Amino acid sequence: MKSLFKTIFAAVLAIFLFSCGQSQTASLNKAEKALISGSDSLMRVLTIFDKADSLLLRSKSNDFSEKDLRSEAFKSLAAKMLYTVKDPSQDGVGIAGPQVGLNRRIVCVQRFDKPGEPFGVYPNARLDSLWGEKAPGREGCLSIPGWAGRVPRFTNIIVSYTDPNTMKTVRETVDGFTAVIFQHEIDHLDGILYTDRADSLWVM
Ligand SMILES: [Zn+2]
Repeated sequence: MKSLFKTIFAAVLAIFLFSCGQSQTASLNKAEKALISGSDSLMRVLTIFDKADSLLLRSKSNDFSEKDLRSEAFKSLAAKMLYTVKDPSQDGVGIAGPQVGLNRRIVCVQRFDKPGEPFGVYPNARLDSLWGEKAPGREGCLSIPGWAGRVPRFTNIIVSYTDPNTMKTVRETVDGFTAVIFQHEIDHLDGILYTDRADSLWVM
């Protein structure tokens, strides 16, 4: 009898440990869906000057599940983030999920490396590789209004993301200013702000 208990215990423990080792991507919860489905196209941009906002901006973001990426909520989020970053009140070149109150891995980046300089939306974005010299450049952030800084960034990157149409992982090599924007925005997904990397900061 004792050995039967031991066997059952070992089996339960093994299942528990196995499930802990799996990286589960939880789909959008009720609160996240409510934030996305708000009636206004212009989303509120969080700033570090608010305590609750600051905590969210400093939190790590989670991936979207395939179910999320196929949902109307995701399409709506992408459209609203684009609307928000392009709005004259923000006039940004990039925005990340946490900046609109969502700890999910999504960035919108203006592609200065493409004709017409369009914005792109990149879910489950990650920096796979960074190389080249670290060139200092001026940066600002919609979440830190009124401030700017000088930040050394890599000149070449490989960014990966999930294509929401094919669900395949896409890898792109990017350089120049667009690579700087990707680094700034993807940092947001890991709770990192440009002020953490700046060698000087000033009030505008
Ligand atoms: Zn920023």
